[in-house]
Amino acid sequence: MSHPELTVLLASPRGFCAGVERAIEIVERALEQNGPPVYVRHEIVHNRHVVDGLRAKGAVFVEDLDEVPDGALVVFSAHGVPKAVPAEAKRRRLLYADATCPLVSKVHRGVEQHHRNGRTVLLIGHSGHPEVVGTMGQLPDGAVILVEDVEQALSVQVPDPENLAYATQTTLSLRETEDVVAALKRRFPGIAGPRREDICYATTNRQRAVEAIAPRAELTLIIGASNSSNSMRLVEVARAAGCPRATLVQNAREMDWRLLDGVRAVAISAGASAPEDLVDELIAACRQRFTVSLEEVELVREDVSFRTPPIPMRQAS
Ligand code: SF4
Repeated sequence: MSHPELTVLLASPRGFCAGVERAIEIVERALEQNGPPVYVRHEIVHNRHVVDGLRAKGAVFVEDLDEVPDGALVVFSAHGVPKAVPAEAKRRRLLYADATCPLVSKVHRGVEQHHRNGRTVLLIGHSGHPEVVGTMGQLPDGAVILVEDVEQALSVQVPDPENLAYATQTTLSLRETEDVVAALKRRFPGIAGPRREDICYATTNRQRAVEAIAPRAELTLIIGASNSSNSMRLVEVARAAGCPRATLVQNAREMDWRLLDGVRAVAISAGASAPEDLVDELIAACRQRFTVSLEEVELVREDVSFRTPPIPMRQAS
């Protein structure tokens, strides 16, 4: 019996960004140079497949420095950490490597600059996300106020409306953030903003690529984890672009194939923390069930890469 036909519209760019590649390389090099265990504070990137792979090589994931033994080497995740974390690592004389994405570090430097200029920073982002925790933790308590949506932008109370700045999480929805920024600017016309968008190139490109293909599909599949902010935003972007049936999928093995019943065109992309082999596996699994015609839609070619910092060497005991 012949398989039903399925057009797969594959977004490009998709998957790993330069910050995620750098973070993984830092953990791998730390393991190569020092041998296991290498402690990693928080999931290095929000992807179980990546985390499990590094764990198999000897990485130990912890949520707090308290769980890292004296003398050990610890890596901070790509999302960034509050200033108190490296300070505590120094106090305990731990060796550490900082895998904070340089684009997140740029936001950290921006909020510090605003603080030095006497401004309160309104940070647009999601409460509890590690990047938001890290950015808020660059300044003393109260110096950064979180704004999660337009409603909060319209009601937020500030100490001095004439001395304000805003910054954003790097992985937000472009469209929703525009609305929040516009609401803030209407209320506080003098508010200072970043010279260039805080939403990073990878988030921007992946969202635009999904916007381009989702309207042509009856179903959009985003490979990524539910705690991955940029993957969740891709699902929302697909829906807003005209594909109401959009969902996250962890990998081909966890795919609910009933979703594809009667579907003739599916759009596929992957969040910035999802490796390309998960995309390959999902397309291979589609080929086992359908006669697939694959159309890759490339919106822009990325050539961003970040240098990895030197990794500290653990002393032989
Ligand atoms: S999504 Fe953007 S900010 Fe986050 S790690 Fe990737 S490049 Fe850096």
